[in-house]
Amino acid sequence: MSSMSREVDLNKVARQHLEMDSFFTGFAVRSRTEVHDDSAPGPANPQSAIMSSRTTIRDRNLVTPDSDPGPQSSVDAAQELAAIAAEVARCRKCQLGSSRTNSVPGEGSPCAKIMFVGEAPGADEDAQGRPFVGRAGQLLDKIIAACGLRREEVFIGNILKCRPPENRDPRPEEIINCLPYLQMQIEAINPEIIVALGGHAAKTLLNTPKPISQLRGQFQEYYGGIGRPPVKLMATFHPAYLLRNYTEQNRRYVWEDMKKVLTELGLPVPSRGTS
Ligand code: URA
Repeated sequence: MSSMSREVDLNKVARQHLEMDSFFTGFAVRSRTEVHDDSAPGPANPQSAIMSSRTTIRDRNLVTPDSDPGPQSSVDAAQELAAIAAEVARCRKCQLGSSRTNSVPGEGSPCAKIMFVGEAPGADEDAQGRPFVGRAGQLLDKIIAACGLRREEVFIGNILKCRPPENRDPRPEEIINCLPYLQMQIEAINPEIIVALGGHAAKTLLNTPKPISQLRGQFQEYYGGIGRPPVKLMATFHPAYLLRNYTEQNRRYVWEDMKKVLTELGLPVPSRGTS
């Protein structure tokens, strides 16, 4: 890369940072979300071939079943998430299990009302074992903050739990192997809304070939299995896409999508500030 093009790149990055700050932090935050205590997950009974292989960690005796199954508490959910993370760390179902530095199971509140689901870890996430900690993650943090929420109050995960080399697209067999982990996480957390970040997450969770441009902007339904109520899903642009296409229009689309999520949850929609 010539020094000139490097300068141009740096300028672009600096400009994006400034714009990101003014667009996603210029909101008057009126209140924080509360967490919900209980969830009542039922048995998993999936809609597709991928889903039909699904069992909860509890079903597989990785967590000791309680004598009274009752409504699932946040302690149960936290235990279940920890057990899923441990299983992900042991997973060698595909090549990515050998090429990764760390698995990235996802992180956040076991009783989150909102679950953000991205595509797959990148280099920063692979190095730290945490989701969305690179540039796209910084933008996601700003979006979450603009919603009046804290990162610890939501759950952030991915379709794939290991980094594909060179950040290539997830392969179908990788998704088939990995998706049950996310499905179990969704079941454990029982969120009110899933926000699918980008086309890969949206198409996978909705089991559709439609492009993100057609999926975003209105609530869709994620089916976790027969007998389980569908979970509302809002698809929106991936923060990495936003960074590459940082137009006023795209930022507005994402904000419109997030406003619908907040409204659906009965949370206050922070108004744009002046900064
Ligand atoms: N992009 C993703 O889809 N997930 C991450 O965790 C980071 C970047």
